[in-house]
Amino acid sequence: MPILVHKYGGTSMADVERIMSNARRVATDIEKGYQVAVVVSAMSGETNRLLGLADQIDPHGSGRERDMLASAGEQVSIALMAMALQKVGYDAISFTAPQAGIKTDPFHTRAKIVSIDDRRIHDVLDRGKVAVVAGFQGITEDMEVTTLGRGASDTTAAALAASLGAERCDIYTDVDGVYAADPRIVKGAKKLARVSYDEMLEMAGAGSKVLQTRSVVFAKKYKVPLQVLTSFENKPGTLISEEVKEMEEILVTGVCSDKTEARITLRGIPDQPGIAAQVFKEVNNRGISVDMIIQSMGEDGLANMSFTVTRADLNDAIQAVEGVSKTLNAKGFTVDEKIAKVSVVGVGMKSQSGVAARMFEILAEKGINIYMISTSEIKISVVIHEDYTDAAVRSLAQEFDLVEETLQSD
Ligand code: ADP
Ligand code: ASP
Ligand code: MG
Repeated sequence: MPILVHKYGGTSMADVERIMSNARRVATDIEKGYQVAVVVSAMSGETNRLLGLADQIDPHGSGRERDMLASAGEQVSIALMAMALQKVGYDAISFTAPQAGIKTDPFHTRAKIVSIDDRRIHDVLDRGKVAVVAGFQGITEDMEVTTLGRGASDTTAAALAASLGAERCDIYTDVDGVYAADPRIVKGAKKLARVSYDEMLEMAGAGSKVLQTRSVVFAKKYKVPLQVLTSFENKPGTLISEEVKEMEEILVTGVCSDKTEARITLRGIPDQPGIAAQVFKEVNNRGISVDMIIQSMGEDGLANMSFTVTRADLNDAIQAVEGVSKTLNAKGFTVDEKIAKVSVVGVGMKSQSGVAARMFEILAEKGINIYMISTSEIKISVVIHEDYTDAAVRSLAQEFDLVEETLQSD
């Protein structure tokens, strides 16, 4: 029988009525002949509440204990969801991530899934039951509970869908699809019917937090179509799949912003081979991902190097840089948290040029200074002062025709 994975986010799990409604939705797909595995998030606001308690004791406290605490949110949800399914007449069994065989690396609060032993889940599905799996959590080789980063129930769902060979992974959320810009920032942003994996990867990586980036990595690698849709209504959402020809005709598919990064600048480092390797080896050894990097010429054989990391990793990154700064006899380093990354994404950029020029012109017209620029084949990102984020996103959405005509401002 074909398998579907349903994922319900926090808002979709907010109360018992929502959970019952999700159970009925699962039932509909079972009646259509699917085996369904359900991945759930913690109830709306719960992860923030739990981590808020931890912060009151020590915001830089043990990652192990933060994970033990935060993973509790999803454990509540799986049991409630399984009960709701039983109530509507379907056999269902809840699984924490360790029970579901979701193994991760040992980096607490940002662990990555390394394997899924899905035998128990398959077995439950084959016996005609619904498997309800906790999102966001994992377990290491050493039986330590980990979490996979904020928003990572999407990743659990996509990884499980890949592992189970699911026909599709349906991500139920509080928006009815992926929009060309965050609808909270751009009123009247266009809804996208289809997005390619690569575009969604870039959009998610650039701050479009409707999907966690790694969920798209799994979906792309294992060719699992993802669908983003609302759990509040019955209507089609956005399909994320392989690129099709028509997608290339659109120059810019989306504009996104990200205020979760910080910039570190190492000043006065030797301008010679091996220095970048040394800096980023230190950072990488702590499991920290770096986003943008620029190196600029300084004076007297010395250079400056700036890079961005997520603010959640900033303390660890500072520790890494402190060490390397001493070893390299650098002039020091600075940290800037008041930055934002604004990006435009579209596969159409592969075949048409001029997007960067138009983007920089719009920002110039608004008097917005650009600190860093990075480009890929289908994305252009700039780092600016965070105060200008929404203004930049709105102007770019207008410029690249991403707003419904009736709602365009003059
Ligand atoms: P969930 O709790 O279901 O995982 P999230 O809050 O993580 O939901 O993701 C859904 C939210 O993502 C939406 O409410 C929306 O504000 C935001 N969002 C950001 N960018 C976009 C976009 N381009 N399209 C749709 N939603 C977006
Ligand atoms: N509950 C986790 C969070 O709030 C994971 C998720 O919702 O996807 O980040
Ligand atoms: Mg989410």
